[in-house]
Amino acid sequence: MPEYLDQDIKFLVGVGPKRAELLNKELGIYTFRDLLYYFPYKYIDRTRFHNISEVRPDQAYIQVKGKIRSFELLGEGRKQRLSAVFFDETGSMDLVWFQGIKYIRENLLPGKTYVVFGKPSVFSGRVNIIHPEVEDKTSEQFKTGVLQAFYNTTEKLKKRFLNTSALNKIQYNLALQIQGKIYETLPPKVKDPLKLMDLKNALRQIHFPESTHLLQKATFRLKFEELFYIQLKILSLKHKRYEAFKGFVFSSVGYNFNHFYANNLPFELTGAQKKVIKEIRKDLGSGKQMNRLLQGDVGSGKTLVALMIALLAFDNGFQASLMAPTEILAIQHYNTIRKMLQGLGVNMALLTGSTKKSQRKIIHEQLESGELQLLIGTHALIEDVVSFHKLGLVIIDEQHRFGVAQRAKLWKKNSGIPPHILVMTATPIPRTLAMTLYGDLEVSVIDELPPGRKPISTRHYYENRRKEVYQFIRSQIEGGRQAYIVYPLISESEKMDYKNLEDGYELMKQVFPRFKISMVHGRMKPAEKDAEMQLFKDGKTQIMVATTVIEVGVDVPNASVMVIESAERFGLSQLHQLRGRVGRGAEQSYCLLMSSYKISNESRKRLETMVRTNDGFEIAEVDLQLRGPGDIEGTQQSGLGLNLNIANLGKDGEILRIARNLASDILDDDPRLEKEEHKLLRYHYLKMKNTEFNWSVIS
Ligand code: ADP
Ligand code: MG
Repeated sequence: MPEYLDQDIKFLVGVGPKRAELLNKELGIYTFRDLLYYFPYKYIDRTRFHNISEVRPDQAYIQVKGKIRSFELLGEGRKQRLSAVFFDETGSMDLVWFQGIKYIRENLLPGKTYVVFGKPSVFSGRVNIIHPEVEDKTSEQFKTGVLQAFYNTTEKLKKRFLNTSALNKIQYNLALQIQGKIYETLPPKVKDPLKLMDLKNALRQIHFPESTHLLQKATFRLKFEELFYIQLKILSLKHKRYEAFKGFVFSSVGYNFNHFYANNLPFELTGAQKKVIKEIRKDLGSGKQMNRLLQGDVGSGKTLVALMIALLAFDNGFQASLMAPTEILAIQHYNTIRKMLQGLGVNMALLTGSTKKSQRKIIHEQLESGELQLLIGTHALIEDVVSFHKLGLVIIDEQHRFGVAQRAKLWKKNSGIPPHILVMTATPIPRTLAMTLYGDLEVSVIDELPPGRKPISTRHYYENRRKEVYQFIRSQIEGGRQAYIVYPLISESEKMDYKNLEDGYELMKQVFPRFKISMVHGRMKPAEKDAEMQLFKDGKTQIMVATTVIEVGVDVPNASVMVIESAERFGLSQLHQLRGRVGRGAEQSYCLLMSSYKISNESRKRLETMVRTNDGFEIAEVDLQLRGPGDIEGTQQSGLGLNLNIANLGKDGEILRIARNLASDILDDDPRLEKEEHKLLRYHYLKMKNTEFNWSVIS
């Protein structure tokens, strides 16, 4: 049933076909509804009036009340303008129009009281307002509430007079035209306990607020609704999948797990590791497929958790695979895990892009026969030729490097029952974002580092203290440690990146003539890269000059210094990931952030945050607030366009939590929304199918 609000915007009073076309193209507004949900980005208090004598040209929007003394037509041709002297008891200023001169001249009367609103500027030493908004306070026609709404527009729109105040008027026409035509979208069951404002009022107040209080209530209601329906959708998908997919039951704890626990585990598990293993084991016993996200800061011991789960898979006669984003990481995992499993007799193999053909053939055969229990590798694992005998568990490390489609491909490695999936990420995702991005995954968090780790000491240096920094590096290396020096990627120009890095490398050779230096960058062949990395790992070089290719997971416990050049150019989560490369051994480690003097406030905030805290979750929260969720690393690659209209995941975590709990309660009670009292929910839920949010990719 098409609704009244689905009408073409061109039929709205004051719009018409030409303006409609502009609104389509520039703002994506096609229907009455689109316009109605095109919300202001800010409000200005219109209860406050300035004295004209106090108005300064550098002020933002202001409002004055007074009378026009006289008009004067100035200039010629394109420079022609109408200027009016406007005054109150305290002084006078000019009002200037370049367009619509005739209309103004005929409609504004000298001597009458007007309210004038606009942004002051200065011309020839006199304060003026160009194209002010002028209201006749004696007429009741245009009641806009006490807070003036401001809408984003574009240059093109402004040129055609569709500026914020024109949008305001169109919104007003819309408000008049749709009176009595807006129906509630939330049932009393949802609305009442939260005392939500009704939709009709909320939409009115969001555009024409009558008080700050009412605006707040309207905003809350609209944010809640947006988040609520998203959660309803995600959680109901999760319900459906849960019902649709069976999972292997790992019921026995056998030789592999027990032997490892008793003999191979070199340390006590942390409380957090134990808690997480328990959570995972519950999934594995449920008979349903597990889809779990394991979050934990760098160095929190996720690999060990994954390994112990894999041992359970072996104990129950299943194969497991571990997929890493780069070859170097896959090799590292392979080596550490092989060492840790010594004496257990687990049959494991490594499969990457550079695995030889003959070797590959053996791996394929052993996988199909079931002889091979654990396969560790890169993307090469996903290739169709790789098939398993009985794949029970897939572990994906460092999720943000993987596309969701790739994840889905791993699912299909079994016909029939899909393997359990454990996704591990060291890029802490703030809870609010995780609930939305990975809302259909269960989340486990390792929120504790193994004991004895010294927090990395982080400092910020400006250029002028570069010598001190070099001196510090020297003293660390002379004490037997190693250092990373990281240069930023300048994405516009690969050549410049390289130059940047090369210069850095040359400089380091001059500054530290007695030390051996490695270099790694994105343009090197994987084998060259690995060889350089290996030299550094083996302690044959003392300094590693690199771009961000070393960001993920590489482990060199003896490295105790991380210098990040032009640190202001890095995102927060990237800085945190980089810093995680040090502090892996017993020594006190340091992260030195170098920046120029001229940095933006946002950069400063990022660097301050790094200096203040080592807590990845806190950093992720700040990052979310600074950048907005669309930008958070990983959301782009995952193919999830997160287009929220009014809610902000960085700021509205509390509303999200309420919305999610409520949605969850409702679905527990009525998973298909079939009850009469949920009819309204079902109706709007089904309408969401066509939103830009791409649900299918959240596998
Ligand atoms: P992550 O993958 O979470 O960044 P790792 O699994 O690589 O972290 O672990 C980092 C280091 O900490 C490894 O050397 C690992 O052996 C060690 N480790 C893991 N768990 C513990 C623990 N409970 N106690 C002491 N050290 C641990
Ligand atoms: Mg790791």
